[in-house]
Amino acid sequence: MTLTQLDQQYVANTYKRFDVELSHGKGSEIFSFDGKRYIDMGSGIGVTCFGIADDKWQEAVISQLGALQHTSNLYYTSPCARLAQLLCQRTGMKKVFFANSGAEANECAIKLARKYASDVKNLSEAYIITLKNSFHGRTLTTLAATGQDHFHKLFQPLTPGFIHAEANDIEGVKKLCREYPVAAILFECIQGEGGVIELNEEFVKGLDELCKKNDILLMVDEVQTGNGRTGKLYAYQNFGITPDVVTTAKGLGGGLPIGACIMGEKAEKLLSYGDHGSTYGGNPVCCAGALSVLERMDDEFLDKVKAKSELIFKRLSSSKGIRSVSGRGLMLGIETCRPAGDVVKECAEKGVLCLTAKTKVRLLPALNIPDEILNEALDVIVSVCAKC
Ligand SMILES: *Cc1c(COP(=O)(O)O)cnc(C)c1O
Repeated sequence: MTLTQLDQQYVANTYKRFDVELSHGKGSEIFSFDGKRYIDMGSGIGVTCFGIADDKWQEAVISQLGALQHTSNLYYTSPCARLAQLLCQRTGMKKVFFANSGAEANECAIKLARKYASDVKNLSEAYIITLKNSFHGRTLTTLAATGQDHFHKLFQPLTPGFIHAEANDIEGVKKLCREYPVAAILFECIQGEGGVIELNEEFVKGLDELCKKNDILLMVDEVQTGNGRTGKLYAYQNFGITPDVVTTAKGLGGGLPIGACIMGEKAEKLLSYGDHGSTYGGNPVCCAGALSVLERMDDEFLDKVKAKSELIFKRLSSSKGIRSVSGRGLMLGIETCRPAGDVVKECAEKGVLCLTAKTKVRLLPALNIPDEILNEALDVIVSVCAKC
């Protein structure tokens, strides 16, 4: 059997894969088993933020692997504690719960909101507002949080307690806060899966104000936007707001599964012994990878991310067959004249791996993609988009 046949016979049919069998890579280049070279413009959906098999990341991970690969959360380990410290230092927040994915990081945030409702607001029942067109994960509860009906249809009944508000309509959110007992508002600064759509700044600032006035937790889902992706360490830092809870995952581990729910002052004391847990959470190898990734994301590095972003905007904005470019940093959505799926398929054939998001072509390259390789990929993307 070929690899494709083997996979199709034994792996659950939940993914529509490209006709590409990947073998190995280095940085932003990936090779298939038949020796074809691809430029990686998706980094495993915003995960491998320093590319494939980055030297420094590998060193950190391998050295931890040889020391202690897992301990459970019954004991103290250094990578976990140091990563939590670094996340707090870089955000001004107070405490971190480690999970293994974005959905799980959001599950923790949702538990915090429920705990806040009962412990602080004295409500027996409370709601969390999320936005229409959002994406918060695939567990039943994070699906319920996700503001897209087509994800809900097949899996009723979902966890109750979520209301979906229109994005960029602060009056609408205020009205919901008057009508319902609301414990938290959870949103993405840039809706990634929803089509790389950035919320407008007045709206985000309005949510911040509304939450502070009404004792509601401001919770930002930075699973995709976090960890340098938008040119700041976390995307909320572009908006000058102070969230009570930040969730992140994807790029955090540089390619290893880790999620984090970061808590500010209002949230840090909500969970106590036994309230939440995870066998793998805070795994030392994943934390060592994450630590090595975050330590390298200083201002100088983030400025380079912004410069690469400008390079892409410049090359794509006035290009034939491209209607618009949305997003920030290295999280970009391209509205193309051709169907996005066709563009991505043809780019793959020509050796450039891109993503889609709704009707757009989505780019999430490694944050350190060399300009030369980036330009090479853009040549292909520009020429494929122009065929319309
Ligand atoms: C990908 C994503 C998630 C889910 O993350 P998983 O690691 O797949 O569980 C949640 N929120 C946002 C904004 C995402 O982009």
